[in-house]
Amino acid sequence: MKEAQQHYYFPLWSCENYPLLLPEGHPFPNRKYPILEELLSNTGFKSFIKRCAVVERRYLELVHAPSYIDRVLNMSLSVEELRRVGFPNGQAYVNRALASVQGTLSATREVLERGWLCAGVLAGGTHHAFVDRGEGYCTFNDAAVAARYALQNSLDRVLIVDLDAHQGNGTASVFACEPRVFTFSMHAEENYPRQKERSTLDVGLPLGTKDDDYLFLLREHLPMVIDYFKPDLVLYQSGVDVLAEDRFGRLGLSMEGLRQRDTFVVENCFSRRVPVVITLGGGYQRNHENVARAHAQTFLTASRLLHYFRE
Ligand SMILES: [Zn+2]
Repeated sequence: MKEAQQHYYFPLWSCENYPLLLPEGHPFPNRKYPILEELLSNTGFKSFIKRCAVVERRYLELVHAPSYIDRVLNMSLSVEELRRVGFPNGQAYVNRALASVQGTLSATREVLERGWLCAGVLAGGTHHAFVDRGEGYCTFNDAAVAARYALQNSLDRVLIVDLDAHQGNGTASVFACEPRVFTFSMHAEENYPRQKERSTLDVGLPLGTKDDDYLFLLREHLPMVIDYFKPDLVLYQSGVDVLAEDRFGRLGLSMEGLRQRDTFVVENCFSRRVPVVITLGGGYQRNHENVARAHAQTFLTASRLLHYFRE
């Protein structure tokens, strides 16, 4: 008989503001949010899903320019600024951006204040947001706000592991002159954003990279980064647009390859007792349920590993 897999669940943040009402045919997989929450609510995560509010302005100011925050909050972004982000303006757009940052911030506080080895958010991963502008479905940079918050609250070093198929250009830009934050991005090289920023370490992948080559490169770089930098916290952007079926990612991972990727990241952190905050990232399959299933696999993979590494 197959041994039942054991899990140790951890807190996750979600919010009804995450799914926006988008026009028919919009490429953003909006329905993934309620589907993901339902998938995880049908597991032991059910009693661990918490609702988050909107982030307070003072936390956004840890990263973003006051004039940019004003323009978002006042809904006075220019047509060009909104075109770069890709979402329609309105109060729902603003609330979503604020709640997404708060989810990652709440998860980060949970590991800092309550000693969890893992926490997560069923949104976030908005790594294309810069200090004074957004792009690529990203308005405010959740990981950047959380990293600055952690540094202000006694941590010395934060590692951002960004494994979305697209480079974390906004995050790289925010921390370009910050030695206490290591930005590691592994992404499809010939893909959006056309103009890359310089992360602390970038690993650009050839188009169509499949499981074996992807995992080889991850194994070659990530443990070295963790041992060299010795982070107190890892913020993991776990984009699932690396899957072969994705419309925009242009990489070739399978669901099993994705599981091995997530296992490798989380195991390398847990085994060194480094807490991990897991955020979502991209995922652009036409079938939103497939995107949600891939994200759910990430959290369930982490909860299986936490069972072995919990104290
Ligand atoms: Zn992406």
